[in-house]
Amino acid sequence: MAASEEKRAEREARKKERDAARAKRQYERLRSHVVTCPACGAEALDHMTKCPKCGAELTPAGYKPAMDEKTKKRIRAVTYTVGAVIVVAAIVLVTVFN
Ligand SMILES: [Zn+2]
Repeated sequence: MAASEEKRAEREARKKERDAARAKRQYERLRSHVVTCPACGAEALDHMTKCPKCGAELTPAGYKPAMDEKTKKRIRAVTYTVGAVIVVAAIVLVTVFN
């Protein structure tokens, strides 16, 4: 009886140790993603684009804009042109075949 209780206590102690170690690892992982806001000194996570406290712009780690403004404008112009051509073609076809 006493032996089994001892075993159980031992098991629980080991489980507590494992849980504590896991919590420590998770905490360390979280801390590795914390950055300090250059404007107000508050802590933010490294994927954030704005400080949660003062709203200052942050540069997220590993972030780079997908494309520059020039490329974006060019793609938009091409898209509008193609769209306009399709609309005009549709109108012409409907007019011709009616
Ligand atoms: Zn801030």
